Amino acid sequence: MTHRKNGNNNHTDPMEHCSFCGAARNDAKTLFSGADGAHICTDCLERGHQMLAEMQRTERARLPFSREELWKPARMKAFLDDYVIGQDEAKRYLCVAVYNHYKRLLHKAEQTRKGHRDEAGGLNEVEIDKSNIVLVGPTGTGKTLMARTIAKLLQVPFTIVDATVLTEAGYVGEDVESILSRLLQVADYDVAQAERGIVFIDEIDKIARKGDNPSITRDVSGEGVQQALLKLLEGTTVNVPPQGGRKHPDQKFIQVDTRNILFICGGAFDGIERKIAQRLNTRAVGFGQQERNPIDRRNLMQYVTPQDLKSFGLIPELVGRLPVLTFMRPLDRDALRSILTEPRNAIVKQYKSLFRMDGIDLTFDDAVLDYVVDKAVEFRLGARGLRSICETIMMDPMYDLPSQGCDRFVVTLDYAQKKIGAANFSGLKRVG
Ligand code: ADP
Repeated sequence: MTHRKNGNNNHTDPMEHCSFCGAARNDAKTLFSGADGAHICTDCLERGHQMLAEMQRTERARLPFSREELWKPARMKAFLDDYVIGQDEAKRYLCVAVYNHYKRLLHKAEQTRKGHRDEAGGLNEVEIDKSNIVLVGPTGTGKTLMARTIAKLLQVPFTIVDATVLTEAGYVGEDVESILSRLLQVADYDVAQAERGIVFIDEIDKIARKGDNPSITRDVSGEGVQQALLKLLEGTTVNVPPQGGRKHPDQKFIQVDTRNILFICGGAFDGIERKIAQRLNTRAVGFGQQERNPIDRRNLMQYVTPQDLKSFGLIPELVGRLPVLTFMRPLDRDALRSILTEPRNAIVKQYKSLFRMDGIDLTFDDAVLDYVVDKAVEFRLGARGLRSICETIMMDPMYDLPSQGCDRFVVTLDYAQKKIGAANFSGLKRVG
């Protein structure tokens, strides 16, 4: 390709013109000449460059699925069922919220691509609100697991943050922006990808306002953090320090728009049952409603409403930004037993797979699995304890067998009881 500046070249043909916009040589600042007498002017080059950049940006911002490929809620739930035991209500809520969220994003992207306008010339769009989610339920019942699994399904960046480490800007702890630093890190600093990711904020209940009189003392890790989170949740552009940590005036920031980030919050909300009970008791009882729908007092969490989150100490604005509210059930013995063997990456399957790599066929007697569940219940360790109990039982065989060249190992009840009996249970202390 050659280029000839206007008037600077005596060999130019004044009849030459840009093959794209038709501008004559005399009008165009510079005309680049290609093969077979084709030309392009600087304006068209510039426009082409911008179009290319826009196409690349759109390409990067694309979701890893199209509208047709976005799984319907029922299919998402079936996927979750492979990894998470029980929690049917929460799964349904989560799947619907996630489906709506990404449908909204895909719809927006399509509208932008088409530049779709109605007859009046305005954007022909119903603005669909973001559906951030809050999962309320005891610790170790699968809140994080559900959020992580749904992110895996969608192949979008996912990060977990602990609300307890967040403080108001300027105080010891982490600024709320650090949440986005982490999301950027997992998205390999691809801002467009991060802007479509999922953030799981754990222990959201720990930033509840303490008491009903918030203004007497500074509440740097409570209401202040809730206020800071509010902006993030509703959607705003945030200057994010790329490496996390404190903001320094001379540090380069990355701008992240949080409008399309899905926030899933989880919390145990210890004691919220009392608030629920109070509300249920004071509710006007009439028309025989209570008789028709008797209240299950053993699991009051299932009746949780946004009002209860407010009574617990979340500010109303924050509750308003978490429109999808659902609950997790405590795990009973049957659920714990299933967790050991049924999920796609169940603990028992993991051990079998580890041993298979050494050519060892591993089996657990059924009684061992019941025993592990008994111990998890006895020590009130819940699902998290299953793993540590199994580790205690399996430590010696994992150490010895690979070098012994055996090809089969059966874990019997007697063996498991001996290992647990001999163990120093420092890691398995009774909780509460
Ligand atoms: P939470 O976030 O509610 O405190 P987690 O999701 O972190 O609980 O659960 C801790 C671990 O316990 C998980 O990694 C998983 O191994 C196991 N677990 C908990 N609940 C379930 C469940 N419903 N189904 C399968 N595994 C579970």
